[in-house]
Amino acid sequence: MHHQSTVIIIDDDPLIRLVVARTLQAAGMNTLEASSGEEGLRLFKDNEIDAILLDVMMPSGIDGYATCYELRNMPEGKHLPILMMTGLEDIESINRAYEVGATDFITKPINIPLLSHRVRYMLKGSFTTQQLLQSEQRLHQMAYFDDLTELPNRHFFQESLQQMIALAQRKKLKLGVLFLDLDGFKRINDTLGHHLGDLVLQATSERLRKSIRISDTFAQPVISQGDISLARLGGDEFTALLPLIERNEDAAIVAERIRIKLAQPFIFGEHELTTTTSIGIAVYPDDGETSEDLLKNADLAMYYAKRSGGNMYCYFSNYMMEMAVRKLSMESHLRKAIERDEFYLHYQPQFDVEKGNFNGVEVLLRWENKELGQISPVEFIPLAEETGLIIHIGEWVLRKACNQAKIWCNQGIPLTRIAVNVSAVQLLHTGFAEMVNDALTECSLDPSILELELTESALINDVDVVINVLRELKQVGVQLAIDDFGTGYSSLSRLMNFPIDRLKIDQAFVRNLEENSDNGAIATAIIAMATSMNMKVTAEGVETNTQLDFMKNKSCNDVQGYYLSKPLPVDQAEEFFIKKYQL
Ligand code: C2E
Ligand code: CA
Ligand code: CA
Repeated sequence: MHHQSTVIIIDDDPLIRLVVARTLQAAGMNTLEASSGEEGLRLFKDNEIDAILLDVMMPSGIDGYATCYELRNMPEGKHLPILMMTGLEDIESINRAYEVGATDFITKPINIPLLSHRVRYMLKGSFTTQQLLQSEQRLHQMAYFDDLTELPNRHFFQESLQQMIALAQRKKLKLGVLFLDLDGFKRINDTLGHHLGDLVLQATSERLRKSIRISDTFAQPVISQGDISLARLGGDEFTALLPLIERNEDAAIVAERIRIKLAQPFIFGEHELTTTTSIGIAVYPDDGETSEDLLKNADLAMYYAKRSGGNMYCYFSNYMMEMAVRKLSMESHLRKAIERDEFYLHYQPQFDVEKGNFNGVEVLLRWENKELGQISPVEFIPLAEETGLIIHIGEWVLRKACNQAKIWCNQGIPLTRIAVNVSAVQLLHTGFAEMVNDALTECSLDPSILELELTESALINDVDVVINVLRELKQVGVQLAIDDFGTGYSSLSRLMNFPIDRLKIDQAFVRNLEENSDNGAIATAIIAMATSMNMKVTAEGVETNTQLDFMKNKSCNDVQGYYLSKPLPVDQAEEFFIKKYQL
């Protein structure tokens, strides 16, 4: 454990003691307070002390100089760091402070943000004042500014936000916090290298500086006092603080101006790059009264702007908060869903176009929770993936599905396929193929009946790892399908590397086939391509007879969709098959 320093603050002014103590505590130090020199000396005798902050002028009892002198004459006080707080920046009082043995001095009014750095620095060893004065500037730079862009950093931002809140409160004015995040910055960094990434960040900062100059714009926000201040929080995250605005709309004027400015292309050597920006806005006091709340809410609003496609600004709203709260509560319920037996499966029949009979099912997970009600997989699957819970949940689905398939096979239902959705997270989890093999042997199901549906995006990351897992799965003997095909980025040549048996045409290309000829062309191309590569094709989301006919004409192998059957609970699925096959 790292030793926590204890510092005595000796000052007759209770307000200064309070502020200094808070500051040092926030920097991880213990503090003791004394309102007079005598009390300070007593505290020093009775405690293990690492440093002392000492006011020079104290009206009653001994003053700071005398206290310092006394301290230096005590055996434990010889090497004690003592920081004198003088109200007077004259050479004489500073000289006197050194004469009585002060390690360093600081002038009042105290520069609060710097104080903890000064104390920590002093605690590290005995530095001469000269060294300290030189390093102060550097320290200030390091502690408050970002090297890359020379913008103020997160620390600086938080402190100025706090100060502005206090001011806005007094003046009964509003305050705008803009949270900016570049869209697709990670891609630039990953594909073009960190050097170019750095250039983008620097150029972005430069544009930000320009875009907040108010004079050169028509629409002028009403900013009663002070300038807009910028900061870089880290990575590709920036903030702009709009001091003392009168109307919430003023924040949007600035946000829009920034958005436009940043959406212009950058040119670096031979590279022309365009990055857009998502901006979240939170306004004091409407959207939060503390700096933490405002920043958090502006961040949340940014997240919504990004999720709505990026290159836009979004105001924080309570709805977002509700959604975030819902997500948290959902997560905690999701953790207990298996043990509480809240999951069950639906089965959607699949139809063999050529033979004209049903031949398989897709397994779709359902979740019903007492408090939250019925939750769509579209909502909870991404959360399960994010939290890693999908590993456990996915295994449950697979085992359950295999058991059910076995039961149906035993009943004589000629099921040739049970398709189970598998997330990228599961696929990359070590031992996945082994688990699948386990599940199959446990209920002695023919592996070739099981089809795993993988998304395109699951295949494009960690290609080497993925190919290995897919080979293992082929050895187990299962079928592999690519789900939602056409929405991802896979190129044909890339697909050739994977041992894939089937493509599922995404619903988006099946829907509106009648009106949208592009969709028809894409579906046709996918079928032709798959056939040439010896893959089967399933069209999903077939809702009309016209769509079914289209697939028939194009020799699509299988179809699935509301037109043939909705996903059914287990007993209805059973009934459906028994009726269809006249068992
Ligand atoms: P998906 O794999 O694309 O599944 C097909 C979705 O389309 C299902 O939605 C299904 O109910 C719906 N659907 C079927 N036919 C039609 C139709 O004719 N018209 C329309 N409009 N929709 C149709 P669902 O059940 O809400 O599932 C949504 C998604 O959740 C699935 O999309 C899949 O990505 C995911 N999911 C469901 N169960 C699991 C699971 O066990 N594991 C994983 N990893 N993901 C799952
Ligand atoms: Ca699917
Ligand atoms: Ca799908």
